[in-house]
Amino acid sequence: MSEGSQGRVRDIVIVGGGTAGWMAAAALSKLLTREYSIRVVESEEIGTVGVGEATIPMIKLFNNALEIDENDFIRQTKGSFKLGIEFVDWGRLGETYIHAFGKIGQDLGMVPFYQYWLKMRQAGKAAPLDEYCITAWASRHNKFMRAMPERPNSPLADIAYAYHFDASLYARYLRGYCEARGVVRTEGKVVDVQLRGEDGFVESVQLESGERIGGQLFIDCSGFRGLLIEQALKTGYIDWNEWLPCDRAVAVPCASDRALTPFTRCTARESGWQWRIPLQHRVGNGYVFASRFISEDEATAKLLANLEGEALAPPRVLRFVAGKRRKFWNRNVVAMGLAGGFMEPLESTSIHLIQSAIARLTAFFPHAGFDQADIDEFNAHSDFEYDRIRDFLVLHYKATARDDSAFWNHCRTMPIPDSLQRKIDLFRTSGRVFRENNEMFTEMSWVQVMLGQGIAPRGYHALVDIYPEARITEYLDSVRHVIGNCVEAMPSHDAFIARYCAID
Ligand code: FAD
Repeated sequence: MSEGSQGRVRDIVIVGGGTAGWMAAAALSKLLTREYSIRVVESEEIGTVGVGEATIPMIKLFNNALEIDENDFIRQTKGSFKLGIEFVDWGRLGETYIHAFGKIGQDLGMVPFYQYWLKMRQAGKAAPLDEYCITAWASRHNKFMRAMPERPNSPLADIAYAYHFDASLYARYLRGYCEARGVVRTEGKVVDVQLRGEDGFVESVQLESGERIGGQLFIDCSGFRGLLIEQALKTGYIDWNEWLPCDRAVAVPCASDRALTPFTRCTARESGWQWRIPLQHRVGNGYVFASRFISEDEATAKLLANLEGEALAPPRVLRFVAGKRRKFWNRNVVAMGLAGGFMEPLESTSIHLIQSAIARLTAFFPHAGFDQADIDEFNAHSDFEYDRIRDFLVLHYKATARDDSAFWNHCRTMPIPDSLQRKIDLFRTSGRVFRENNEMFTEMSWVQVMLGQGIAPRGYHALVDIYPEARITEYLDSVRHVIGNCVEAMPSHDAFIARYCAID
């Protein structure tokens, strides 16, 4: 492909109107001038995957960029707030930990807070890590409030959070946003894709009605089937099942009359794990499992037996292969969402991956035509992001002492990627962990999950010893005390929602 080939991009065709399609359309309609036409083709008959209800804090940046009013957004999507994820029974049966968003403690000197905590914990003189983290501690007490930047020296100044929402209402919300900005929606099933003879670029998609929709840039948001990226361009898929053994999920919503928890719960089960996502009108539940170890019927029966309220719809089984496309951008097709890859919902990363693909596309946008150097760079960044998230997810399966089922025996003893092994080894010796090249999960995420899964470092950072132990104890106590007081003063999650964004 020559530099700037295929002329200027003017017509953008997005195939698929699930979360990925509407997020892409919303962002592009906000960021691009009206010279560009944006069209979303979707088929109600095919429908969307209908899951994807827990997010991570970066989604706030997306909503802010779209200038979405947060209270209205929560109300319209019947959502709730999320301060982190509670993991139950992962390291060992009976153990629980929280992977909370945001900061832990308050750094002292040049060394991160958790290093001081490690020293004192090894000496048996520190409380659990949760008690030094405002979002973890608030989760434990079902409390929530937004940050108060006007109190810069308080932990209340920095409360990182995300959302739980109803996936179908989210797509509807974004569709309204897009249509108000001139995005054209076409209802119809794509039955054929026309490729240009000279370079194999996608020229148009053909609907069942016979209509052909042409464009210069195509965004494939058609879900697992990858209508353009795979079925038309045969890009190929890298399968990570050897490291991420789950390949099915069964999902069912249920009623709840309990308090709304400001966190997602992931409970490890015999052959996978179960999610619980609290929304205002229902609770989303699902059992993600490995079909090598449990049948669909058994998994469905286990999920139904573990619901906390009456099922509100029949259970639905979804099949997937954990992995990613060989190229996310191939010729004039960029794959986003499930069309690009899927790594299971354990850390709620998929919607974020849509968001970062959109950000990357805007950074490499082919205004003046397609340039292979840009495409290669886009793909290299996407690969790095996927590979690092994969490692973080594999960590949850690998670092376990569970030996009560064939599934956990497999996970505990399976080989893992070298990049993950290096991280685990480094943490085990010195408690050190580094965020490389702006990878998505921060040091704090790695630390919480490694500790939570039972990886105990043998040492701690040497610079911690420049402070006398009494000084460190005093410092830890004061952080814990201040966080405790802040959480005490916060409203309950229910009360916060009732005040600002409850549904009628
Ligand atoms: P889909 O929702 O499948 O949308 C595909 C679109 O393409 C639809 O509009 C469909 O009609 C259209 N389409 C397909 N074929 C054609 C055709 N021939 N003609 C016309 N239109 C067509 N992510 C998170 O971030 N957090 C979570 O908690 C989470 N949980 C998940 C749980 C499970 C079990 C699974 C499987 C996924 C989960 N995800 C989660 C991922 C999340 O659901 C997806 O990333 C997100 O919904 C985006 O999906 P999508 O838009 O790519 O695909």
